[in-house]
Amino acid sequence: MGTLFKNGTIITASDMFRADLLVEGEIVTLIGRDLDPTGHTVVDCAGKYLMPGGIDVHTHLDLSFGGTYSNDDFNTGHKAAAFGGTTTHIDFVIQPPGGSLHDGLIEWRKKATLAQIDYGFHLAVRELNDAVLDEIPTLIDEGVTSLKLFMAYKNVFQVDDSTLFRTMRVAAKHGMIVMVHAENGDVEAALTPALLAEGKTEPKWHASSRPPEIEGEATNRAVVMAGMTGCALYVVHMTCEPAIAALRRGRALGYPVMGETCCQYFFLTVDEHLAAPGFEGAKYVCSPPIRSKHDQEVLWGAVKDGTLAVVSTDHCDFWYEGGVGPTAEWAAAHPNGDWHAFEAQDPTYRRPGKELGRGNFAKIPNGMPGLEDRMMVVWHAGVNGSRISPQRFVELHCTNPAKVFGMYPKKGTLAVGSDADIVVWDPNKEHTISAKTHHMHCDYNVYEGMTVRGVPVQVYQRGIRLVDGDQWLGKNGAGQFVRRSPGAPIL
Ligand SMILES: [Zn+2]
Repeated sequence: MGTLFKNGTIITASDMFRADLLVEGEIVTLIGRDLDPTGHTVVDCAGKYLMPGGIDVHTHLDLSFGGTYSNDDFNTGHKAAAFGGTTTHIDFVIQPPGGSLHDGLIEWRKKATLAQIDYGFHLAVRELNDAVLDEIPTLIDEGVTSLKLFMAYKNVFQVDDSTLFRTMRVAAKHGMIVMVHAENGDVEAALTPALLAEGKTEPKWHASSRPPEIEGEATNRAVVMAGMTGCALYVVHMTCEPAIAALRRGRALGYPVMGETCCQYFFLTVDEHLAAPGFEGAKYVCSPPIRSKHDQEVLWGAVKDGTLAVVSTDHCDFWYEGGVGPTAEWAAAHPNGDWHAFEAQDPTYRRPGKELGRGNFAKIPNGMPGLEDRMMVVWHAGVNGSRISPQRFVELHCTNPAKVFGMYPKKGTLAVGSDADIVVWDPNKEHTISAKTHHMHCDYNVYEGMTVRGVPVQVYQRGIRLVDGDQWLGKNGAGQFVRRSPGAPIL
């Protein structure tokens, strides 16, 4: 007794073909023509595509950042992800100040007790000493095989070059992958006060404080260190021509370097969005910043020619209009900002959000929602827009994320033996994106009003239906931690 997906068109990273697909228990057990439905529940997929569940390898759920916490947690964020066709994500565990990497893991495992979809963890190192260096390889036993280092956010997350280099040497020895946020944080820390001193305080100046050159410079620095150490490097959220050029150069030299971009960088620009009237631009503040139309074309080119391997989101959402409460008494009683508990007291309460940066762009919490929208907006602009094939779409959103981060072929493809994470995709159905109807815990959507064609209509995780049209069928605690393997390939 299984579930038989009949008459659909299966899309993988390499192929697109008509076939039936049988799921028994949690895995795909048979793919073939005209499979016998006797004894199985049949899902009629005529006119639909079957794709592997999306994997978003770059999310920040429930993150303490910028004087507040990101809105979506492992409850609301997971539900929103699944409604958008994403069934697995990897979140960034942050090493607590003065703490060990395992201290961070303990904290994130608590957050993940709410899990509704499958998830993994990267570990962001921010303080390195001999004990932490020794601790790095022990993460493999915990199913964590990727490390993240920030070359930006001075005095918050930023590490120096020695820390990056030494971490890479250890990671290379154990087949782990190092991810970097590549922006020169020292230069940013010099540019920002100068802009503010000139009275340049509106959201649009965020882009001037983090110009493309500092992303290109930091990308090149990390790429060169990867070449020197032989460490697999994955540059997150690449946005612009100088950064892509640095990655291309490293790849041409045979260095083990890869890159991702995030969906917002294909759509949003400084001129149209960040420079929007009033304080509107705060909605689009993230780092690195959104760029120009020219950079968008560079990114599409890099996605097409294989320079970029993955499209993710960097989902890290904050209220546009937050900051309703807390009372001074409540804040004093909750020094670590247990905002979920606070908001649970009264649904009109909201933790602080983007308004923290009114009158000072540097205080706008960095980040935006996107976890739910990623596959729909990139399908629409990429596949409907004839920029990428459906197979390349699956490769960028499902297969490559699984391969790079050691989850393949359990995740990221539809093959016999793979987890039955399945998206039934209706390529003809239209949907207009809006904060009024999205499932993310956020009062705005960066694609507000955009009509896309091609949406998930049913979403399954390990054979269990999570989404059926507008209906949510998932439950807390059903999401599982995905143990990942070291030694992933360089794509
Ligand atoms: Zn991020």
